[in-house]
Amino acid sequence: MSIIACPQCGKRTSSLSPICDHCGLKSGEAGEGDVQRYQKRKLRRRIYHLNMATYAIMTVVIIAFGWYWVATNSMQEPTSSYGPYYLMMAAAVAYLAVRVLLFRAKRERKALRQTQ
Ligand SMILES: [Zn+2]
Repeated sequence: MSIIACPQCGKRTSSLSPICDHCGLKSGEAGEGDVQRYQKRKLRRRIYHLNMATYAIMTVVIIAFGWYWVATNSMQEPTSSYGPYYLMMAAAVAYLAVRVLLFRAKRERKALRQTQ
């Protein structure tokens, strides 16, 4: 087995794999099972990244809350900055977007499982 550069995307992929891991370019001997394996791998990776994005957003929420805590002097005064609200709102929008993408990826994975 050797590592070669994919002729389509230029990224490194195994010479034994009939489908490029990165862009899905098929070589001559790619069969139906290879296509499904590739799609599954791609979905698994997408779900992994979306989960990571969820953790990153949660970190942003914690930072926003810390900022809010400081801006309100431990919630004893009216806020001195709207920054925490904007950050919290941005995190909420990002969270919803990630949840929608995650939902779609999982539905796709389920559909893929049912075809096998
Ligand atoms: Zn490729």
